[in-house]
Amino acid sequence: MDSLPTSIVVLTGAGISAESGIETFRAADGLWANHPVEDVATPEGFAANPQLVYEFYNQRRRQLLSPATKPNAAHSALAKFEHEFDGEFLLVTQNVDNLHERAGSSKLLHMHGELLKMRCLNSRLVYDISEDFDFDTECKCCRSPGNLRPHIVWFGEMPFHMNQINMALEACDLFIAIGTSGNVYPASGFYQTAKIRKAHTVELNLERTGSSFDQHHYGPATEIVPAFLDSILQLQR
Ligand code: NAD
Repeated sequence: MDSLPTSIVVLTGAGISAESGIETFRAADGLWANHPVEDVATPEGFAANPQLVYEFYNQRRRQLLSPATKPNAAHSALAKFEHEFDGEFLLVTQNVDNLHERAGSSKLLHMHGELLKMRCLNSRLVYDISEDFDFDTECKCCRSPGNLRPHIVWFGEMPFHMNQINMALEACDLFIAIGTSGNVYPASGFYQTAKIRKAHTVELNLERTGSSFDQHHYGPATEIVPAFLDSILQLQR
Protein backbone atom coordinates (compact mmCIF):
# COMPACT_ATOMS: atom_id res chain seq x y z
CA MET A 1 0.00 0.00 0.00
CA ASP A 2 1.43 3.38 -0.99
CA SER A 3 -1.30 5.77 0.11
CA LEU A 4 -3.10 6.08 3.44
CA PRO A 5 -6.54 4.42 3.41
CA THR A 6 -9.52 6.38 4.74
CA SER A 7 -11.88 3.52 5.60
CA ILE A 8 -10.86 0.02 6.63
CA VAL A 9 -12.80 -3.20 7.19
CA VAL A 10 -10.97 -6.11 8.83
CA LEU A 11 -12.42 -9.64 8.81
CA THR A 12 -10.94 -12.15 11.24
CA GLY A 13 -11.38 -15.91 11.40
CA ALA A 14 -10.35 -18.78 13.62
CA GLY A 15 -6.67 -18.44 12.57
CA ILE A 16 -6.20 -15.25 14.61
CA SER A 17 -7.06 -17.16 17.80
CA ALA A 18 -5.02 -20.28 16.95
CA GLU A 19 -1.92 -19.01 18.78
CA SER A 20 -4.09 -18.38 21.85
CA GLY A 21 -4.68 -22.15 21.90
CA ILE A 22 -8.18 -22.21 20.35
CA GLU A 23 -8.57 -24.82 17.64
CA THR A 24 -9.53 -23.70 14.14
CA PHE A 25 -12.26 -25.36 12.11
CA ARG A 26 -10.53 -27.67 9.65
CA ALA A 27 -12.57 -27.56 6.48
CA ALA A 28 -10.32 -30.17 4.84
CA ASP A 29 -11.57 -32.94 7.11
CA GLY A 30 -14.83 -31.23 8.16
CA LEU A 31 -13.94 -31.40 11.84
CA TRP A 32 -14.19 -28.74 14.55
CA ALA A 33 -12.44 -29.89 17.75
CA ASN A 34 -12.75 -33.50 16.53
CA HIS A 35 -16.50 -33.29 15.80
CA PRO A 36 -18.08 -33.33 12.32
CA VAL A 37 -19.44 -29.78 11.86
CA GLU A 38 -22.83 -31.19 10.79
CA ASP A 39 -23.21 -32.64 14.30
CA VAL A 40 -22.31 -29.55 16.31
CA ALA A 41 -22.84 -26.53 14.05
CA THR A 42 -26.15 -27.03 12.26
CA PRO A 43 -29.81 -26.70 13.39
CA GLU A 44 -30.28 -30.34 12.26
CA GLY A 45 -27.44 -31.49 14.53
CA PHE A 46 -29.00 -29.64 17.47
CA ALA A 47 -32.42 -31.20 16.79
CA ALA A 48 -30.90 -34.70 16.50
CA ASN A 49 -28.69 -34.56 19.60
CA PRO A 50 -29.11 -31.39 21.69
CA GLN A 51 -27.09 -32.77 24.60
CA LEU A 52 -24.01 -33.24 22.37
CA VAL A 53 -24.35 -29.68 21.05
CA TYR A 54 -24.80 -28.16 24.53
CA GLU A 55 -21.74 -30.06 25.77
CA PHE A 56 -19.67 -29.05 22.73
CA TYR A 57 -20.24 -25.33 23.35
CA ASN A 58 -19.93 -25.78 27.14
CA GLN A 59 -16.44 -27.21 26.51
CA ARG A 60 -15.50 -24.36 24.15
CA ARG A 61 -16.76 -21.84 26.77
CA ARG A 62 -14.81 -23.52 29.58
CA GLN A 63 -11.65 -23.42 27.49
CA LEU A 64 -12.22 -19.75 26.60
CA LEU A 65 -12.61 -18.84 30.28
CA SER A 66 -9.63 -20.87 31.50
CA PRO A 67 -6.69 -18.71 32.69
CA ALA A 68 -4.47 -20.19 29.96
CA THR A 69 -6.56 -18.66 27.13
CA LYS A 70 -5.53 -15.06 26.50
CA PRO A 71 -5.57 -12.59 23.61
CA ASN A 72 -2.36 -12.73 21.58
CA ALA A 73 -0.22 -10.09 19.86
CA ALA A 74 -2.47 -10.06 16.77
CA HIS A 75 -5.61 -9.27 18.81
CA SER A 76 -3.68 -6.56 20.68
CA ALA A 77 -2.32 -5.02 17.46
CA LEU A 78 -5.88 -4.67 16.08
CA ALA A 79 -7.09 -2.99 19.29
CA LYS A 80 -4.13 -0.57 19.24
CA PHE A 81 -4.73 0.14 15.55
CA GLU A 82 -8.40 0.95 16.13
CA HIS A 83 -7.40 3.65 18.63
CA GLU A 84 -4.55 5.14 16.58
CA PHE A 85 -5.97 5.09 13.05
CA ASP A 86 -7.64 8.42 12.14
CA GLY A 87 -10.07 7.06 9.53
CA GLU A 88 -13.15 4.83 9.60
CA PHE A 89 -12.58 1.38 11.02
CA LEU A 90 -14.71 -1.74 11.50
CA LEU A 91 -13.59 -5.14 12.78
CA VAL A 92 -15.87 -8.02 11.77
CA THR A 93 -15.12 -11.37 13.34
CA GLN A 94 -16.36 -14.84 12.49
CA ASN A 95 -15.00 -15.96 15.84
CA VAL A 96 -17.28 -16.76 18.72
CA ASP A 97 -14.55 -16.24 21.32
CA ASN A 98 -14.15 -12.90 23.15
CA LEU A 99 -10.43 -12.38 22.60
CA HIS A 100 -10.85 -9.22 20.47
CA GLU A 101 -12.82 -7.40 23.17
CA ARG A 102 -10.47 -8.64 25.88
CA ALA A 103 -7.58 -7.14 23.89
CA GLY A 104 -9.44 -3.79 23.82
CA SER A 105 -11.29 -3.74 20.48
CA SER A 106 -14.65 -1.96 20.53
CA LYS A 107 -15.56 -1.20 16.89
CA LEU A 108 -16.35 -4.90 16.61
CA LEU A 109 -19.19 -7.04 15.21
CA HIS A 110 -19.55 -10.77 15.92
CA MET A 111 -21.22 -12.03 12.75
CA HIS A 112 -21.39 -15.66 13.92
CA GLY A 113 -22.53 -15.05 17.50
CA GLU A 114 -20.77 -15.40 20.84
CA LEU A 115 -19.87 -18.29 23.13
CA LEU A 116 -20.65 -16.18 26.19
CA LYS A 117 -24.28 -15.67 25.19
CA MET A 118 -27.37 -17.89 25.02
CA ARG A 119 -30.75 -17.24 23.44
CA CYS A 120 -34.33 -18.14 24.32
CA LEU A 121 -35.99 -20.03 21.45
CA ASN A 122 -39.39 -18.51 22.30
CA SER A 123 -38.68 -14.84 23.02
CA ARG A 124 -35.33 -14.60 21.11
CA LEU A 125 -33.99 -12.65 24.11
CA VAL A 126 -30.22 -12.99 24.50
CA TYR A 127 -28.54 -13.54 27.88
CA ASP A 128 -24.92 -13.47 29.02
CA ILE A 129 -23.70 -16.87 30.17
CA SER A 130 -20.33 -17.89 31.62
CA GLU A 131 -21.35 -21.27 33.07
CA ASP A 132 -22.45 -24.52 31.46
CA PHE A 133 -26.09 -24.74 30.37
CA ASP A 134 -28.20 -27.41 28.70
CA PHE A 135 -31.71 -28.70 28.06
CA ASP A 136 -32.49 -28.75 31.79
CA THR A 137 -31.48 -25.12 32.40
CA GLU A 138 -34.44 -22.93 33.28
CA CYS A 139 -34.89 -19.96 30.94
CA LYS A 140 -34.94 -16.55 32.65
CA CYS A 141 -37.94 -15.32 30.67
CA CYS A 142 -39.99 -18.51 30.16
CA ARG A 143 -39.17 -19.94 33.59
CA SER A 144 -39.13 -23.40 32.04
CA PRO A 145 -36.35 -25.75 30.81
CA GLY A 146 -35.67 -26.75 27.19
CA ASN A 147 -35.89 -23.29 25.60
CA LEU A 148 -32.26 -22.15 25.56
CA ARG A 149 -29.73 -22.54 22.75
CA PRO A 150 -26.18 -21.27 22.18
CA HIS A 151 -26.18 -17.78 20.60
CA ILE A 152 -24.15 -19.13 17.69
CA VAL A 153 -24.90 -18.82 13.97
CA TRP A 154 -24.92 -22.37 12.65
CA PHE A 155 -24.43 -23.43 9.02
CA GLY A 156 -27.61 -22.62 7.11
CA GLU A 157 -28.54 -19.72 9.42
CA MET A 158 -28.34 -16.00 8.65
CA PRO A 159 -25.26 -14.25 10.12
CA PHE A 160 -25.80 -11.20 12.33
CA HIS A 161 -25.23 -7.50 11.41
CA MET A 162 -25.16 -8.10 7.63
CA ASN A 163 -26.63 -4.69 6.71
CA GLN A 164 -24.01 -2.84 8.73
CA ILE A 165 -21.23 -5.08 7.38
CA ASN A 166 -22.28 -4.63 3.75
CA MET A 167 -22.49 -0.85 4.16
CA ALA A 168 -18.97 -0.76 5.58
CA LEU A 169 -17.63 -3.05 2.83
CA GLU A 170 -19.15 -0.84 0.13
CA ALA A 171 -17.56 2.26 1.66
CA CYS A 172 -14.09 0.94 2.49
CA ASP A 173 -10.90 1.49 0.51
CA LEU A 174 -8.95 -1.23 2.32
CA PHE A 175 -10.20 -4.71 3.21
CA ILE A 176 -8.01 -7.05 5.27
CA ALA A 177 -8.83 -10.74 5.89
CA ILE A 178 -6.90 -12.35 8.75
CA GLY A 179 -6.73 -16.07 9.53
CA THR A 180 -9.79 -17.14 7.60
CA SER A 181 -9.92 -20.04 5.16
CA GLY A 182 -12.50 -18.46 2.87
CA ASN A 183 -14.66 -21.59 3.11
CA VAL A 184 -17.58 -20.17 5.06
CA TYR A 185 -20.17 -18.11 3.13
CA PRO A 186 -20.99 -15.15 3.17
CA ALA A 187 -17.73 -14.02 4.82
CA SER A 188 -15.79 -15.72 2.01
CA GLY A 189 -17.32 -13.21 -0.45
CA PHE A 190 -16.55 -10.02 1.52
CA TYR A 191 -13.33 -9.30 -0.39
CA GLN A 192 -15.27 -9.40 -3.66
CA THR A 193 -17.86 -6.90 -2.37
CA ALA A 194 -15.01 -4.62 -1.28
CA LYS A 195 -13.27 -5.04 -4.65
CA ILE A 196 -16.36 -3.97 -6.61
CA ARG A 197 -15.96 -0.57 -4.93
CA LYS A 198 -12.23 -0.60 -5.83
CA ALA A 199 -10.95 -1.30 -2.34
CA HIS A 200 -7.44 -2.70 -2.01
CA THR A 201 -7.72 -6.25 -0.59
CA VAL A 202 -5.12 -7.90 1.64
CA GLU A 203 -4.89 -11.44 2.99
CA LEU A 204 -2.89 -12.20 6.15
CA ASN A 205 -2.76 -15.96 6.72
CA LEU A 206 -0.48 -18.78 7.69
CA GLU A 207 -0.76 -20.10 4.14
CA ARG A 208 -2.31 -19.35 0.76
CA THR A 209 -6.09 -19.90 0.63
CA GLY A 210 -6.78 -19.64 -3.09
CA SER A 211 -8.77 -16.39 -2.91
CA SER A 212 -7.50 -13.67 -5.26
CA PHE A 213 -6.62 -10.78 -2.96
CA ASP A 214 -4.46 -7.92 -4.28
CA GLN A 215 -1.79 -8.48 -1.64
CA HIS A 216 -0.82 -11.48 0.53
CA HIS A 217 1.39 -11.91 3.58
CA TYR A 218 1.99 -15.39 4.94
CA GLY A 219 3.08 -16.30 8.46
CA PRO A 220 1.75 -16.60 12.01
CA ALA A 221 -0.82 -13.91 12.84
CA THR A 222 1.17 -12.78 15.91
CA GLU A 223 3.97 -11.71 13.55
CA ILE A 224 2.36 -10.56 10.32
CA VAL A 225 -0.65 -8.68 11.78
CA PRO A 226 1.35 -6.24 13.99
CA ALA A 227 3.85 -5.69 11.17
CA PHE A 228 1.20 -4.98 8.51
CA LEU A 229 -0.87 -2.66 10.72
CA ASP A 230 2.28 -0.76 11.73
CA SER A 231 3.07 -0.22 8.05
CA ILE A 232 -0.30 1.54 7.64
CA LEU A 233 0.21 3.70 10.73
CA GLN A 234 3.61 4.71 9.29
CA LEU A 235 1.74 6.20 6.31
CA GLN A 236 -0.32 8.30 8.72
CA ARG A 237 2.74 9.85 10.41
P1 NAD B 1 -11.05 -21.85 9.45
O1 NAD B 1 -10.81 -22.68 10.67
O2 NAD B 1 -11.85 -22.41 8.33
O3 NAD B 1 -9.64 -21.46 8.85
C1 NAD B 1 -8.61 -21.00 9.67
C2 NAD B 1 -7.62 -20.25 8.80
O4 NAD B 1 -6.65 -19.71 9.68
C3 NAD B 1 -6.89 -21.13 7.79
O5 NAD B 1 -6.91 -20.47 6.54
C4 NAD B 1 -5.47 -21.22 8.35
O6 NAD B 1 -4.47 -21.26 7.33
C5 NAD B 1 -5.36 -19.93 9.15
N1 NAD B 1 -4.45 -20.01 10.29
C6 NAD B 1 -4.27 -21.04 11.15
N2 NAD B 1 -3.37 -20.71 12.09
C7 NAD B 1 -2.98 -19.44 11.82
C8 NAD B 1 -2.06 -18.54 12.42
N3 NAD B 1 -1.36 -18.87 13.53
N4 NAD B 1 -1.90 -17.31 11.89
C9 NAD B 1 -2.60 -16.95 10.77
N5 NAD B 1 -3.47 -17.76 10.15
C10 NAD B 1 -3.65 -18.98 10.66
O7 NAD B 1 -11.61 -20.48 10.00
P2 NAD B 1 -12.79 -19.56 9.56
O8 NAD B 1 -12.56 -19.15 8.15
O9 NAD B 1 -12.88 -18.53 10.61
O10 NAD B 1 -14.10 -20.48 9.61
C11 NAD B 1 -14.37 -21.23 10.77
C12 NAD B 1 -15.78 -21.11 11.29
O11 NAD B 1 -15.86 -21.84 12.53
C13 NAD B 1 -16.16 -19.69 11.62
O12 NAD B 1 -17.43 -19.48 11.14
C14 NAD B 1 -16.17 -19.59 13.16
O13 NAD B 1 -17.42 -19.08 13.61
C15 NAD B 1 -16.06 -20.99 13.65
N6 NAD B 1 -14.90 -21.15 14.60
C16 NAD B 1 -14.62 -20.17 15.50
C17 NAD B 1 -13.52 -20.30 16.37
C18 NAD B 1 -13.22 -19.19 17.37
O14 NAD B 1 -14.13 -18.48 17.77
N7 NAD B 1 -11.97 -18.98 17.77
C19 NAD B 1 -12.72 -21.43 16.30
C20 NAD B 1 -13.04 -22.43 15.36
C21 NAD B 1 -14.13 -22.27 14.51
